[in-house]
Amino acid sequence: MKILKGFKYRLRPNRKQREFFAQFSGCARYVYNRGLERRQEVYEKEKKTLRYFDQNKELTAWRYEIDWLKSCHSQVLQQSLKDLNSAFDHFFRRLKKGGEPGFPRFKRKGDGDSFRFPQGFKLDESRVYLPKIGWVRFRKSREIEGEIKQVTITREGDCWSVSFSVEIERAIPEVIPTLERSVGIDLGCSVFAKLAIGESNLSGEIGHPKYLKSLLAKIKRYNHILSKKVYKSRNYFKFRKKLAKLHRHIRDARADFLHKVSTKLTQNHDQFFVENLHVKEMLEAGHTALRRAIADSGWRKFLDFLKYKAVELGKHFKELSPYFPSTQLCSCCGRRKKLSLNERVYTCDHCGLSLDRDLNAAINLKAAGASVVNACGATWCSAEAGISRL
Ligand SMILES: [Zn+2]
Repeated sequence: MKILKGFKYRLRPNRKQREFFAQFSGCARYVYNRGLERRQEVYEKEKKTLRYFDQNKELTAWRYEIDWLKSCHSQVLQQSLKDLNSAFDHFFRRLKKGGEPGFPRFKRKGDGDSFRFPQGFKLDESRVYLPKIGWVRFRKSREIEGEIKQVTITREGDCWSVSFSVEIERAIPEVIPTLERSVGIDLGCSVFAKLAIGESNLSGEIGHPKYLKSLLAKIKRYNHILSKKVYKSRNYFKFRKKLAKLHRHIRDARADFLHKVSTKLTQNHDQFFVENLHVKEMLEAGHTALRRAIADSGWRKFLDFLKYKAVELGKHFKELSPYFPSTQLCSCCGRRKKLSLNERVYTCDHCGLSLDRDLNAAINLKAAGASVVNACGATWCSAEAGISRL
């Protein structure tokens, strides 16, 4: 089986290389934005959708017209148009499915500056060769496996990083799942996740990482200080850099936490049942505190990590339908009732069950996923909760 993976490292460019990076990402952004503008124009006038092929021809003309575009590697510019093309593909795909996707947006300077090479790069011990730029050093924190398919350079605040997208050919073992090695996972706000583990539904939980709270408080303070500075003054920019650094730190710390948790889970269990996340919808519907907690906990990323790690080990990952009412069902007798957001305990008037709301949901997810008969007396009804902490 072929696995796609990314390896990301911090670059150590010299001054000249930094200038190249800024210039290349500027060119890539220009081509992306101009391509987007052209698509809009043509669509409004002729109701036609431009494709990558059409736009690539236009690109040749732009390169004659604009001098500074010539200094950038042509494949970087083509790649930019390919990215635009996939943004549109994604947009139309979601539209077809009946969603309300956001229309592809124009890129602004400093907002995710990046550019990509599909080929022409080389690698030695701790340097990467980029066409037209030369050998750039990077901090090699771990070995790269697989065949490198493309190289992306991205700005994060003051720093630049390189990501290698690779393809790895790997034999996947076949793991036959049992209920005992299964786990239902409910992602919550009070704790990061509640687990219902194995046949007897042992309760487990993963708390929110503690450092996150203090760092978020720091962000709030920094934002306030920034708002007091004179807009676009020297001090303002200096402080904005500091804020960007803090954001980067939080992002790294959170990814680290999510990696650790997902690795541990995939080591200890064989089958995962999770709820379908409509994080975006929830973000829009929920109130502010809830919103904050959701956006900060990185659920989507967590499920992505869990999924790819499970698949790599031949284990099973199942996301349940978004319509499955995991919170509303009684995990004992299967009756359904609505709970308000602040009701933390599920109490069933019918069978008398009284259980932590998230644990009840996790049990439902596991039961529905594993198609265990949903009736009183089933194994998971006697949810005697022993706590196993991660
Ligand atoms: Zn009940």
